[in-house]
Amino acid sequence: MINKRILSARKRIAIIAHDNKKKDLIDWAVYNMQALSRHELIATGTTGKLLEDALDRPLKKLLSGPLGGDQQIGALIAEGNIDSLIFFWDPMEAQPHDPDIKALLRVAVTWNIPFACDRATADFLLTSPLMHEEYTCIIPDYSDYVKRKI
Ligand code: PGA
Repeated sequence: MINKRILSARKRIAIIAHDNKKKDLIDWAVYNMQALSRHELIATGTTGKLLEDALDRPLKKLLSGPLGGDQQIGALIAEGNIDSLIFFWDPMEAQPHDPDIKALLRVAVTWNIPFACDRATADFLLTSPLMHEEYTCIIPDYSDYVKRKI
């Protein structure tokens, strides 16, 4: 049996940027303000505050990344409450919450959600017609794995 999840036209997009990438993220978000206005945005604490100011719209803010915000987003993905992830992470600097980042990226792949980790991919994602229309996302079949555990 194929498990599917319908991602509606209005996506729930999680957004995170590491400190050295925040300027780049805000620049990207302002440039794409119109496209982003069609979606619900959820962000880690500091990224969310900066986005609210730059986009002049309220959005759902979670904890700051190092305080558990990345894990909150991972949990939302696992529960089917996030449709896409834009994560401007910094490849040049170790983070105190590196294990959380790895876990978040793993969960995003586990649930087959579209995600971008750099600006070019974020451009491709946001300009895809699929981002703005209903999309049927196939959820990988983990039933054998679950059965093995019982
Ligand atoms: P922040 O968290 O938006 O609160 O800065 C981002 C992160 O470092 O994961």
